[in-house]
Amino acid sequence: MDKQTQAEKFGAEFGNDGQCFETGDGRGFAEVLGLYCVTLEWIDGDNTRDTVRCVFPDGSIITQAGAGWDLGYTDCFCWEGNGHSGCQHDQELN
Ligand SMILES: [Zn+2]
Repeated sequence: MDKQTQAEKFGAEFGNDGQCFETGDGRGFAEVLGLYCVTLEWIDGDNTRDTVRCVFPDGSIITQAGAGWDLGYTDCFCWEGNGHSGCQHDQELN
């Protein structure tokens, strides 16, 4: 059994490269997301800004912002690669 989350598997399809939006065999980001039945949660509750959280059925997260993406968090819109900045976790740490 592999223990990767769905988000990790998804990320691996894109070489774990947060600026890559096409798989090695030419499938697009949205196309592959569609295979996983993700739920999209926009940062402002509406599709008016470019930061969106893609919630996989197993609860794992990919957060996309503009021309990049990374593994994300369930309760804020930060990226794992960047740590927390300007969210409630940031304030807890300081
Ligand atoms: Zn955060």
